[in-house]
Amino acid sequence: MGKPTGFLEYRRAENPCSAPRDRVSDYSDFHFSLPEDQRREQGARCMNCGVPFCQSSFGCPLHNLVPEWNDEIYSGNWSHALSRLTKTNPFPEFTGRVCPALCENACICGMDDPSAAVTIRENELAVSDYAWAHHFIEPSIPAIRTDKQVAVIGSGPAGLAAADLLNQRGHHVTIYEKDELPGGLLMFGIPAMKLEKSIILRRTEKMQKEGILFNCNTEIGRDLPAAQLLKQYDAVLLACGARQERTVANADTGIPGVLSALDYLSENTRALLEGRESSKNAKGLDVLVIGNGDTATDCVATAIRQGAKSVRQLVRKPPKTGERVWPYRPSGEKTAYGQEEAAALFGQDPRMYEASIQKLLVDEAGALCSAVVLQGESEITLPAGLLILAAGFSGAEEKTAKAFHLREDGKGHIGKADYTTENPSVFACGDIRRGPSLVVWAIAEGRACAKAVDRYLEGYTNL
Ligand SMILES: Cc1cc2nc3c(=O)[nH]c(=O)nc-3n(C[C@H](O)[C@H](O)[C@H](O)COP(=O)(O)OP(=O)(O)OC[C@H]3O[C@@H](n4cnc5c(N)ncnc54)[C@H](O)[C@@H]3O)c2cc1C
Ligand code: SF4
Repeated sequence: MGKPTGFLEYRRAENPCSAPRDRVSDYSDFHFSLPEDQRREQGARCMNCGVPFCQSSFGCPLHNLVPEWNDEIYSGNWSHALSRLTKTNPFPEFTGRVCPALCENACICGMDDPSAAVTIRENELAVSDYAWAHHFIEPSIPAIRTDKQVAVIGSGPAGLAAADLLNQRGHHVTIYEKDELPGGLLMFGIPAMKLEKSIILRRTEKMQKEGILFNCNTEIGRDLPAAQLLKQYDAVLLACGARQERTVANADTGIPGVLSALDYLSENTRALLEGRESSKNAKGLDVLVIGNGDTATDCVATAIRQGAKSVRQLVRKPPKTGERVWPYRPSGEKTAYGQEEAAALFGQDPRMYEASIQKLLVDEAGALCSAVVLQGESEITLPAGLLILAAGFSGAEEKTAKAFHLREDGKGHIGKADYTTENPSVFACGDIRRGPSLVVWAIAEGRACAKAVDRYLEGYTNL
């Protein structure tokens, strides 16, 4: 422990960010880093607890060695901090930006007052940013290669994490991805203001230099039959995500102006990358977003950046309340960046609780123009040029299971607790196995699955 009195001397200080009104004119990341001396103070706040709950199963799913690298940050040993951080987390530049920081809920500094927890996520990001800026992170080609070939289907965080570990172990890894760019929901789900796309490409370019083959624009089951992969590879790993979107009663996606959240968000990112206007655009429209999770928040924030006239968010249930029980995740309602921006621009929180669509009304051309909404007991008609359905995801797409003749478990998940499937050479990890979750969980699953694959290929594993 570097500074025994750090947690008494320094208060928690978060990265500053631009005011909501100032940041909505583009899709840039709106957070700034603390200067190095202040970051070291934030590292010094870690108490190096005898039982570090932050890295236990209450906290970080990757079991990141949080106290160790916080101490290295305090001492200014950035390369040591990186080496301890990457022992468990191959992609701190992703989690440092988008992780909900389960570790901070479990931090003992925040036991009585959550706003006193150590800034673990931002400390992690600072190590990663420092390391990339100072070229500590460079391609490292495995010294020894095995004769085993592994196919990974899907290049989201689960597929990338598995591919990275299997490649470092010396196996020959090929990734198949149906989108034109790698990254899964990191690339075409999470919007650029939360995760700039160059950050994903920087990582996948490094992985390519380390020997991993990326085949984008290739959908297994359509462009290449599953049987060919089973024949060609010693093991196949399914990391295809859980993209089956939940339907919303009385909201027909066949009506022009009604969109699924993923179609809406992915087209916006594609347009941004190609330097054109999105064809699914909220500009000048009254927008309704259905749902209350991260995806709904991202839709609210994207509609604002596209220049929506108004944005409302319909939430079926009443606002979540609930006491915080340390070290568990708080169950109460949180106001995220999208709601902050809507409140700053339109004068009120966009969320309407206990509200659901009763009927959609269309104009003479058949396009959406308004929605009849039931809120509590009252029926109201709201103007709506665009309705975005962000009610969550129910599980994996059926076609993946069918292509590999696998059964899903009745909840839309494929794969067992030990990452195996009914076919001994096929494995599954990430959202496709555990259901819609988080980036940090996808990375943890990818790494655990890589160990299962290695054990299958070699009869033991040292990963
Ligand atoms: C809008 C949105 C915002 C989110 N925000 C956050 C956040 O802020 N923080 C957080 O922690 N989590 C967030 N999540 C959740 C997180 O993104 C996912 O849990 C995570 O990406 C799952 O990783 P995965 O690798 O299992 O699947 P995915 O990221 O879904 O990747 C699966 C990949 O497989 C490919 N694929 C599927 N089938 C085939 C096939 N047959 N052939 C070839 N390729 C195929 C897909 O194209 C995709 O690229 C968000 C999710 C969404 C939708
Ligand atoms: S990956 Fe997430 S949960 Fe784990 S230490 Fe980093 S911010 Fe915390």
